[in-house]
Amino acid sequence: SLSIGIAGLPNVGKSTLFNALTKNDALAANYPFATIEPNVGVVGVPDPRLAVLAEIFGSQKIIPATMEFVDIAGIVKGASEGQGLGNKFLANIRETNAICQVIRAFEDPDVTHVDGDVAPSRDIETINTELILADLQTIEKALPRLDKEARTRKDKEKLAVVDAVNAAQKLLDDGVTLFAGAAAAGIDLTLLRDLHLLTAKPFLYVFNLDESELTDEALRARLRSLVAPAEAIFLDAKIEAELIELPDDEALELLQGMGQEESGLSQLVRIGFATLGLQTYLTAGPKESRAWTIRTGATAPEAAGVIHTDFQRGFIKAEIVSYDDLTAAGSMAAARTAGKVRMEGKDYVMQDGDVVEFRFNV
Ligand code: GDP
Repeated sequence: SLSIGIAGLPNVGKSTLFNALTKNDALAANYPFATIEPNVGVVGVPDPRLAVLAEIFGSQKIIPATMEFVDIAGIVKGASEGQGLGNKFLANIRETNAICQVIRAFEDPDVTHVDGDVAPSRDIETINTELILADLQTIEKALPRLDKEARTRKDKEKLAVVDAVNAAQKLLDDGVTLFAGAAAAGIDLTLLRDLHLLTAKPFLYVFNLDESELTDEALRARLRSLVAPAEAIFLDAKIEAELIELPDDEALELLQGMGQEESGLSQLVRIGFATLGLQTYLTAGPKESRAWTIRTGATAPEAAGVIHTDFQRGFIKAEIVSYDDLTAAGSMAAARTAGKVRMEGKDYVMQDGDVVEFRFNV
């Protein structure tokens, strides 16, 4: 499954956050939660729609979509040149599909900051610089070979790749990540795919705040503007670690007392899932209500293939009702009577929240 790497300078709260994510009963609910390796955790994607479907269909079980988080230690100044855990860090982060940077905004005299004081914009720069330097090294290594191949074979596609790599190099030299600058510079990231560049991955940011800062709208706006167009999530990792020890109703009460509607962890998983370019469709019956992961834009047969490759191979059609139409009608039978249940063929592009039953040949 697709994964998000949790990266950041030392002592910013990465491990606190990762441990809270992977110990969280609500996120791991009814899913055989697994820690694959000490630094990899599988987390259920919170989806309130599943409980509603389970009610309508009398399902015995709820199975959410899942995604992986990887705790990536070792980013410090000089990591791109092998300082600290440099090489291990680079190998770990290269394998993830998106990068979540944890940025410290909390003050605590008992927790030292590697660079002396708490300064979010400087830390963002430090990490971006390391990722940019690592990408520049990758490019410098690959470019002569790519260039030679493209020229000797006069291969149009390869020449387009070389042009894209040169444009990427220029952008990175100017200190801009590919995530932030590729679109404006007209660089097609798909041409760079084979290089596995770090700054071409989708970014999102977690700002680890003091509790008192959680409702500081001016601060949030300022931090948000530092990282746009990336998504920003604001939380207090210490409080998140406390919240997961509480029963649901008490946790909600504590959150609301701090002016929050949803836990930071839940926001992180939800927004992280969307950042990966993923969406879900739903199936429901007496056995289980379940969310299935597909990439945004997937067709009905591709969606069927997520359940079983035979479903894709033998796909005939899909019986589909949107979650909103189904819940408005109250039951599958009522949705049918209301003409809300559609038969869709192999070219249908799935929509988030489609409730589906596939028809297929075996
Ligand atoms: P990592 O090095 O980024 O993985 O950081 P850790 O999660 O190990 O946290 C480093 C220290 O900071 C630990 O003592 C944590 O308890 C503390 N810490 C983490 N998050 C917060 C926070 O939101 N507020 C405060 N005051 N301390 C925190």
